[in-house]
Amino acid sequence: MSVEEPRNTVGSAEAEELRARLAEQAASLRRRLDERSIKEEELRGDCLLDAADVSSATEALRQHQADTENDRTLLARVESALDRLENGRFGYCARCGTEIDPDRLRALPHIEHCLRCQTELERSQSASR
Ligand SMILES: [Zn+2]
Repeated sequence: MSVEEPRNTVGSAEAEELRARLAEQAASLRRRLDERSIKEEELRGDCLLDAADVSSATEALRQHQADTENDRTLLARVESALDRLENGRFGYCARCGTEIDPDRLRALPHIEHCLRCQTELERSQSASR
């Protein structure tokens, strides 16, 4: 065998279990995003109708949109983790390529970075704020 097959860092039984968990998480996020788009319409309505308290209605809408954005980001991560499981590339850091600690993957299968890169990324993000 000359070409090395891509290989997940977790065994096939565990990969199967993680796949099931991620698929379930993706499904529940999609349901929540559907509900959120209905809720957003209501909140937009409040902004127009409830003129007496427009600023709190606007704030509620703004918060709702921020939460929606977080859910979308999480869903994208979950979907990309499912892709990686499919392609045999699951469990490697997206930044430096080292294997991610299996305990962290079990806790949060959608994570994309090893602890060191995660820490560095968070540090640079909070520094740029
Ligand atoms: Zn890394």
